[in-house]
Amino acid sequence: KMVLDKLGQSLNNALKKLARASTVDEALVRDVVRDIQRALITSDVNVRLVLDLTKKIEKRALEEKPPAGVSKKEHIVKIVYEELTNFLGKEAKPVEIKAKPTVLLTVGIQGSGKTTSVAKLSRYFQKHGYKVGVVCSDTWRPGAYQQLKQLIEPYGIEVFGNPEEKNAIKLAKEGVEYFKKKGVDVIIVDSAGRHKEEKGLIEEMRQISNTINPHEVILIIDGTIGQQAYNQALAFKEATPIGSIIVTKLDGSAKGGGALSAVVATGAPIKFIGVGEKIDDLEPFDPKRFVSRLLG
Ligand code: GDP
Repeated sequence: KMVLDKLGQSLNNALKKLARASTVDEALVRDVVRDIQRALITSDVNVRLVLDLTKKIEKRALEEKPPAGVSKKEHIVKIVYEELTNFLGKEAKPVEIKAKPTVLLTVGIQGSGKTTSVAKLSRYFQKHGYKVGVVCSDTWRPGAYQQLKQLIEPYGIEVFGNPEEKNAIKLAKEGVEYFKKKGVDVIIVDSAGRHKEEKGLIEEMRQISNTINPHEVILIIDGTIGQQAYNQALAFKEATPIGSIIVTKLDGSAKGGGALSAVVATGAPIKFIGVGEKIDDLEPFDPKRFVSRLLG
């Protein structure tokens, strides 16, 4: 599956320019770095972040001596690879399933792809051999419970919910207790994405979090919102102890780079990315693998 096609193509073109050149001199390095800059800015990555990143690449490319047996060109490609990987968070940070059950709480605003991501996540853990239960505590969107059931019951994953219940905190608590009794390995609690007002949403999240005491709170962010992702992630991070982030809709979006880098800039680890509408379109986010694929 191709992710961030356009960014990958333009980065590749920059590296091709390097590969084709007969001599690697300062002018060429600056030219290639400028192309990388343009590629990232066109993908909506924050300009200041782009400048920091490309300054590092340029400095290393101009100053470092390649190790024995490595050509100058190969070494510069390696620098680009390393700096992009560092930029995106360096190491993969998996969601750890240590406690039984491990309770995960997902939060995010309506339309971010939260419900779909909860379904994908439950399927992901199921495929990795865990027994999963999903709790729908979204009392604001009438269709949420049905949507979740439709998405994951065909896989034999149970959804706990009650469309009549208006108390989200009570629902979340009952759902977690229900699945604890059932002896599942992972409980995923989905919360509301909308409220009368934003303050109410944040307060409800805080109360649910305090009541069910999740091992990890996972924030879902729409990957097509570009640099706005920075403020959204920060706002949630201040309100709840966000343990990780899923960036959705990174398939086919030329501007996905913006959201991705904005989220990385908040310091909260991205653990998964959504790359399609289907239940299996969820990938663990591994900066190394991501950059390898981006650079082809
Ligand atoms: P919620 O309101 O946050 O729960 O959002 P939904 O889960 O209902 O998703 C909103 C829309 O985004 C739906 O049409 C989903 O199919 C779509 N969507 C969610 N994740 C992805 C993704 O990774 N890629 C694409 N292309 N669409 C997605």
